[in-house]
Amino acid sequence: MNDEFDPLCEKCGGTGKCDSGGFQPWGQPIFIECDCVMPTSQPNISTVQQLIADRKRAIRKQERVEKIAQKLKTQQYLEERSAEEALMRSNPNYGRF
Ligand SMILES: [Zn+2]
Repeated sequence: MNDEFDPLCEKCGGTGKCDSGGFQPWGQPIFIECDCVMPTSQPNISTVQQLIADRKRAIRKQERVEKIAQKLKTQQYLEERSAEEALMRSNPNYGRF
């Protein structure tokens, strides 16, 4: 068996097998895999953590891009406003009302 289990597990006594409480028709107790058993085919914790870290980094990058886009939008808005104001000021009637 290639599965890994906790040798210090109290539930299964470090065997990786738990008594399910049931019995086979021929009277043999049914043992099931303990919660501590970790099939080696499963992605290991560091791989999962790596994937989560990558995803978080991608989200942060997206947030940065959106923040910059927002900033540029605001800048563009302010420039348009000041251009409009300059246009108004150039109007000979500006300030007469
Ligand atoms: Zn166990």
